[in-house]
Amino acid sequence: MLVSGALAVTTSVVLMRSNIRTMDVLVYDTKKYDRETLNAANADAGAPHKLVFVESLLNERTASLADGFPAVSLFVNDDASAPVLERLAHGGVRLITLRSTGFNNVDLDAAARCGLTVMRVANYSPYAVAEFAVALLLAVNRKLHRAYNRTREGNFALDGLQGYDIHGKTVGVIGTGRIGAVFARIMHGFGVTLLGYDLTPHPECLALGMRYVSLDALLAESDVISLHTPLLPSTYHLINAEALAKMKRGVILINTSRGALVDAEALIEALKSGHVGAVGLDVYEEEEGLFFRDRSDQIITDDVFARLMTFPNVLITGHQAFFTHEALAQIAAATIRNLSDFEAGRRNENVLIPRSA
Ligand code: NAD
Repeated sequence: MLVSGALAVTTSVVLMRSNIRTMDVLVYDTKKYDRETLNAANADAGAPHKLVFVESLLNERTASLADGFPAVSLFVNDDASAPVLERLAHGGVRLITLRSTGFNNVDLDAAARCGLTVMRVANYSPYAVAEFAVALLLAVNRKLHRAYNRTREGNFALDGLQGYDIHGKTVGVIGTGRIGAVFARIMHGFGVTLLGYDLTPHPECLALGMRYVSLDALLAESDVISLHTPLLPSTYHLINAEALAKMKRGVILINTSRGALVDAEALIEALKSGHVGAVGLDVYEEEEGLFFRDRSDQIITDDVFARLMTFPNVLITGHQAFFTHEALAQIAAATIRNLSDFEAGRRNENVLIPRSA
């Protein structure tokens, strides 16, 4: 079924087995690939759940769409702040299941107050994101984004395309959890000196020879810095003007984690002065109104983003690091399992706020 307008709705056709308890789920912020993978995962599980897909993001205006649904599924730019959660709970929602690892867009305290269970996908291919971070690094270092455009225009000049060997450089990894550790392992293969900054050292990173240092030391010593911490109050604008000033001149900064780890305005100043050598960003603090949609015929009104896009040494992608076949399948399977476990009263590793009694 397709309902016209911004709140277009499609309903998956599912076969419900009488011996399996089902959940009716409103799935926000969906694209064709979400619908395909979620329907496939649901079918693989015996089609236990009725999935209703909407393209719109969750916000105060669209929360009422979930009235009567016991569960909603959200993605990274859905707004699950307190007023929205209160509205969802008022409409009968009991479970929020996120199709992401990060949960910075959900007010967990408010969810607990509203009696909402919150689940996420704690584990899915860390390779998807780590490999993408490496891709950004190689692209901005060797200027692949510029070379691609040049050769298509018949310009085979090399001026301005010079990079450096990654081999022998010092690479700083901020946040050495699942993704940071895979990134470190790949970088190890390049023959680099690895520095790490985390609250808890990762045994695999230690085994690679990573030296855990203070944030200041990592900023000062690294030729390349890649961000892999979650967005938390403690990591908000971790990379601000002060942190940027502590970095080596010519540093390459890669952010595939969350946009708000970086103060974009401070980054622009550091790029303008030439202090930062190159930047690869898959995320942006204000990406919610921009990413995951074709806006090629629209005017970009975010002047900070527009300025970032003007630098030849900045490569921005639209939050696609997770976007591999394997990761999407794992996210979909975990989402279906979260729904089944919630309905059956089972707890699993994806629970952020448990089911209230
Ligand atoms: P993880 O929980 O395995 O690792 C995060 C690490 O950050 C942990 O080791 C933790 O100790 C560390 N950390 C937390 N607070 C810190 C602080 N204040 N200072 C230093 N270190 C701190 O998470 P993960 O699976 O590796 O994912 C990391 C992040 O990547 C997610 O939170 C998410 O924001 C982002 N992500 C992005 C995409 C994408 O498509 N771009 C996809 C998946 C995840």
